[in-house]
This record gives sequence, structure tokens and C-alpha cells, in this order.
Amino acid sequence: MAEQESLEFGKADFVLLDTVSLEDFMANLKLRPTRQQNIAVIPSRRWKVRSLPHVFVHHEQGEISSVPPVDTKLCWWSGGNHDSQPGLSESYPVFEKGRIYSYIGEVVVSVNPYRAMNIYGRDTIEQYKGRELYERPPHLFAIADAAYKAMKRRNKDSCIVISGESGAGKTEASKYIMQYIAAITNPSQRAEVERVKNMLLKSNCVLEAFGNAKTNRNDNSSRFGKYMDINFDFKGDPIGGHINNYLLEKSRVIFQQEGERSFHSFYQLVKGAPESLLRSLHIKKDSTANDYIKVGGHVKSSINDGADFKAVADAMKVIGFTTDEIQTVYKILATILHLVPYLVLMLCLGYLPALHCIPNVHKRRSEGNLKFGSDGDATLIENTKLVAVLAELLSTKEENVEKALLYRTVATGRDVIDKQHTDKEASYGRDALAKAIYERLFCWIVGRINDVIEVKNYDARIHGKNTVIGVLDIYGFEIFQNNSFEQFCINYCNEKLQQLFIQLVLKQEQEEYQREGIPWIHIDYFNNQIIVDLVEQQHKGIFSVLDEACMNVGKVTDEMFLQALNGKLAKHAHYTSRKLSPTDKSLEFDRDFRIRHYAGDVVYSVVGFIDKNKDTLFQDFKRLLYNSSNPVLKAMWPEGKLSITEVTKRPLTAGTLFKNSMISLVENLASKEPYYVRCVKPNDVKSPLLFEYERCKHQVEYLGLLENVRVRRAGFANRQTYARFLQRYKMISEFTWPNHDLPSDQEAVRRLLQGCGFEQDAAFGKTKVFIRTPRTIFSLEEQRAEMV
Ligand code: ADP
Ligand code: MG
Repeated sequence: MAEQESLEFGKADFVLLDTVSLEDFMANLKLRPTRQQNIAVIPSRRWKVRSLPHVFVHHEQGEISSVPPVDTKLCWWSGGNHDSQPGLSESYPVFEKGRIYSYIGEVVVSVNPYRAMNIYGRDTIEQYKGRELYERPPHLFAIADAAYKAMKRRNKDSCIVISGESGAGKTEASKYIMQYIAAITNPSQRAEVERVKNMLLKSNCVLEAFGNAKTNRNDNSSRFGKYMDINFDFKGDPIGGHINNYLLEKSRVIFQQEGERSFHSFYQLVKGAPESLLRSLHIKKDSTANDYIKVGGHVKSSINDGADFKAVADAMKVIGFTTDEIQTVYKILATILHLVPYLVLMLCLGYLPALHCIPNVHKRRSEGNLKFGSDGDATLIENTKLVAVLAELLSTKEENVEKALLYRTVATGRDVIDKQHTDKEASYGRDALAKAIYERLFCWIVGRINDVIEVKNYDARIHGKNTVIGVLDIYGFEIFQNNSFEQFCINYCNEKLQQLFIQLVLKQEQEEYQREGIPWIHIDYFNNQIIVDLVEQQHKGIFSVLDEACMNVGKVTDEMFLQALNGKLAKHAHYTSRKLSPTDKSLEFDRDFRIRHYAGDVVYSVVGFIDKNKDTLFQDFKRLLYNSSNPVLKAMWPEGKLSITEVTKRPLTAGTLFKNSMISLVENLASKEPYYVRCVKPNDVKSPLLFEYERCKHQVEYLGLLENVRVRRAGFANRQTYARFLQRYKMISEFTWPNHDLPSDQEAVRRLLQGCGFEQDAAFGKTKVFIRTPRTIFSLEEQRAEMV
């Protein structure tokens, strides 16, 4: 293809290129891209470097640089066969070529390939080990290696923040990163280090069983946020770790959207546990199960619950859960199965495992869970047989279970009385119990894993500082049809992380330029601090207003909370409600409010906010569980020790707890050297063939990649110490080869760049040379390749 022709392709558009070899890239250009006006191309066939930058701009003047004018259109171009008509089918060959990674600066952008890729094996690991980012095609391993190197060379903690929407590939990415780190460390095969590595890898399996679920977006969706620290000793070998978990979506235990499931653990138990175990849990495997497989219409494909049960049981054993502990875990799962509207569970499971105590379960739907009725005055438990089952599973007395379900102990002045629940209150209590014991179980599991993996016997005085790499795999922005308290928390979390991203990227750049004496160019970007404040500010923020509403004695409704919000936030630029904007059809009167998030507008329904924030679990249940004769269960509920008169302090609300955990998470991340992985989801149907252009474009925008590019643009694409630069490129110039006799390395680098005509593209700091466009580096690389 003529050079002139290729120049006409781009109209100041840019490409996030997943292709990395220029030969390939140029070869592909011979096939004329159909989306001409969106494709940026490289106009010269001379470049033969192996790794390319990943954001190209083709300016109208014909110039190519690594950053686009901000309002350019986006295009993802993957190389490969452009004879297929991307414009028509929206199918891009990204999947055919399997080049799913690209970079913006040092940020990895990844597209979920939705198929097994042969790029994570031993060979690939070897290729990346110890290499610099630009030496190899973009890959997660490169960023993992960079974080590892930074940690090891500079003795500095680093962290890898993985973001993207549900199903974009965050959890898979975090696992590959861990696998990579496990593979490149401990060359001397020290047994203790091997043990730790094994534990770290095994913990994933257990956490996923209890914290993941099939959703409409992802068959294995993490329903909790996870931050994992891996600790390294002075040799750079893993010696332990720690997991922090955030906001498990516990409401899933009692309710799932059409087509979704509860947590995997339930299905694994019912499908995979041996008959005898199920019998002891009063769960019977229904031999006619297949009759019901189609009920509900969502038979899962990619999940094998039966096999997973065994894998998880093995992993728990390896990690060091005792037999009693594992038995207790099963008992708790069974308790929940008996408590919750299990029909929903079973429909999702694809069949109906009849609970032993309830015959003809499919005919008598209402008997599925513990039900309450009334005989006029008193509230009663309808299916009393279940009480005995629950008492057995929880190792407590039947009458205690019954009492906790039907009564609430309240202190009135100096008296303590048992107040009977209405049947509504009793149902509320039952659901709260199911959610709470699952959440507690999950936190307990995380705690047990932490017990085992935490660093032991490490004396920093002898061995030097123990350093850390943190990996954050946390929920991305969620914008659903109906957004509730959970989405509110999750989206707030993303605002916090975006704020951190802005601060760190800018802060770091700024500091480096200052340190090196390079003038800093201010760049304009949207600072989302205003939205963070809207949510978390003392007194005026949404969490505060919500807490205030929850604190009121007497009946407070969600609508009253909304009124309070409207009163306080009417003037806020990022807040609206229907009342404040009566013509806005997207909002429902007196039920919704909208936040203009940095990633887009989200309408939240206030229904349930008060309840979810209060997150009440009657003290009676806590006491019931604490008084269990099962020591494992008892240990999970230490606060049950208190009698009603001793419970004076109001527990912190769910919102405040979450806010506090986010603030400390961000503080923690800010103290480390950050690396970012931004995951993009190419389609909603989990297809390895479909690349939906608009969808990807939207994600690129809201992930802040444009801002990211702008930041890069204000700065320099590449920086290296003078010595390192010379080491790599000195053969290019007669002034520097084999050694220079100039007064300083800086002078030598300047002469070298002058000789190639690149002086204008570089800035000279105190210890480093800064190169603005990657093009310069590629050209240097090419010249180097010709020499060596
Ligand atoms: P997230 O954690 O962002 O919600 P996951 O990491 O669970 O998403 O990925 C969802 C699914 O996408 C995985 O179960 C897997 O099938 C597929 N997937 C994600 N990343 C990859 C990858 N690198 N290679 C192959 N398949 C992947
Ligand atoms: Mg996940």
C-alpha cells in the first residue's frame, strides 16, 4: 500500500492497538480497513521495532503521536483480517488474533477474549521475567513484573489496581498476576515459601466458592471486593499475605434476579456433597431432579458444581481448616437453605432437591422456607419441624431457636421484656438472620485464610524490610435498571478509586518533573472530588444524611430520607431528584435520586436504603448463635455474649462501615506505588467473536482512559536515567560508541539525540532524560536493531 494512501486513513483519530509487532501491523495494512476514517496508521514502513506504543494518533497534518486530541473518536483496531466488515457485523478480529492487551503509558488495557488463550504458560512467563515493559508485547505479566521489580529494586511497596465492569476480566487478571508472581519467585524452592505460594493460590478457590455467583453479566461474578497483600522477604520471595474483603452482596442469599443464582457454595453443597453428608444436613438429593431442570429456564453451562464441591473441600483442607470447621461451614449453608425461600435457589440450580422434611415440595411452594402465620393473637411458625432441624444444625435447643425467631427481648427502663414479633417482623428477622450468618461465615473464612497466610517469624531487624505487592480486584461501576444501596456503595467506591487514580498519576508525574527540574504543564481534567464529597462529606454527604435518618426514633421511611437529601443537596451540581427537576422523566416522583457520576448518570431508588443501612440483626439471634454448643459457630458471634441491657452502643451503619473501609483502602493504596489494569468487556453475551464498538467506546470513556491519555500527553512517554539510556543506545552514535568522552552522561545523551534529530522531543532532567513521544523510542530501537 502506498504511503500516501495510508496517510489518508486517519482523521485525527486514535487507535488502542492490541497489535504489537510492526511487521504484522504493516502487513495488515495491506488489507484495507473498512472503518477508514477511524483508523490511525503509521505512515512509514521503516519502523521495525518489536513493540509498539498502544495509543496512536494520526493528526491531520500527517503527524503521528502517542496521544490524541481529546475529542477524537475512538477506534480499536486489532490487526488481522479487515476484509470482514467491522462496520456491519461489529465483529473485530481482536479475538482471532488474540492480542488482548495494550498500554496507555504503563497502564494495561485489556479486552476480555472470552476464550481460553495460550498466553499464560511457562514459555510466556519466561519471556517476561525481568524484562522492561517496552521490550515485549503488552501483557499482564509485564505489569506484574514491573510491580515486582519496583518492589524489589527500590524496596518499595507496590500495588496493582484492577478495574472494569462486571465480566470484564478483573478476577481472571488478578489470578494470572498471582500465578506469575508465584512462578517467578523462590528459585531455590524453599519449602516454606512454596507452602505460602500454594496457600495464596488455593485461597482463590475457596473465596470464589463463597463469594462468587452466577449473574446475568458473568457466570462467576465476584460479589465482594478483594484486596490481597502479598508479602516478600529480602530475597523477593513470598512469605505471606493478607486479604481484605469488602461489602459482600449478602442480599443475594435471599433474593436473586431472574436468571441469576445465589452464591456457588449452596449449589456445590447440594450437587457435590455425598449422600451421607446431605442426610445429616437434612437435605435430600432428589432422584427425580431432572424433571425440573428446565424450570426457571436458566441451566448453567460453564459451572460444574459437583466437581467444584470437591475442589473447594480439598482446598479448605490444604489451607488448614479442621474437619469440625468444614462441617460447621456445611451446617451453616444448610441452615440458610432451610431458612430462605429455597425455591428460588432450586429453580436456579435447575432442579428441586427436596428437603427431607417437606414432601412434595414442588406442589407446595409456600412451604419452602421457614414460614410464619398467626392464630389471631400470637405469631406462629408454620412448619415447626424445621425448628428441630435448625436447632440440630446450630447445636442449640429447639426452644431457643423458636424463641429467637418469634420474640425480641427489649429493655424498657430497668425491665427486660420479651416482645412478640408480628409475622412480618418475624419474616424480616429470618431473612436478616440468613443474610447475617452467611456474611459472617464469609468473613470468618477470610479470617481463617488470613490466619494461615499471615507472615510469621519474620524479624525485620535481621532480614530487612518486608515489602508488599497489593492486588485489588474490586467491583466496577454498576448501572442497572434498578439501582439500590449496593450500587450506591459500589459506585462510590469507584469514585474513590478514580480520585486516587487522578491524584496518583498526577502527583507522581508532578513530583518526578519537580525533582528532575522539568517544568510542569498543567492539564485540565475533571476532578471528581466533588462527587466523592457529595457522598462522604461529614453532615452534608449522602451517607451522613442517611445515618441521620436511620438514627431517628420512630418510623422513618425511605421517602423521608429522600426529602432530607433534597433539602440538603438541592443545589449540588451532581445531585437531582424528581422533586427538584419535575420534568425529568427518568426519575420517579419521591422515590429516586440521581447522581451525576464521573462515569455517567445513575438513578438510585431509595427503596430499602434505610433498612440496608441499618442492617439490623436482632440481638436475640446473636445470643442464640453465641450460645451454640458448636465452638466454631460460637466463635463467629462474640457480640452475642452481651445481654440486652449491656448493648448500649448503636452499631455503625452499613454505609458508614463501608465508607470507613473505602477511606482506609484508598489510604493504603496511596502509600504504595500503583500499577493499573483497566479491563474492557467487549460484549454482553460472553462471545469470543463480538466486539461491540459503542460498548467499548463507552467503557474507554468512563474508565477515564481519555483522561489517562491526556495525562500522558502532558507528560513524557518515556524516561530513563542517562546511564541506562546510554547503555541501550550508545551504539547509535559515534559520540557515544563504545564510550563517550563528554563531561557527563547527560551531555552524551544530548549529543546522541541531536545526532538523530530528536533533541526537540526530549527534555533533560537532573538524572533522567524524558522523551515525549514513543515514536522517538521506536526509532531509536530500530536504529539499535540495525546496529546489533
Ligand atoms: P470480572 O471479575 O471482571 O467480573 P472475570 O474475571 O470473572 O470478570 O471474567 C469473566 C469471565 O470472562 C471469566 O469467567 C472467563 O470466562 C472470561 N475471561 C476473563 N478474562 C479472561 C482471559 N484473560 N482469558 C480467557 N477468558 C477470560
Ligand atoms: Mg470478579
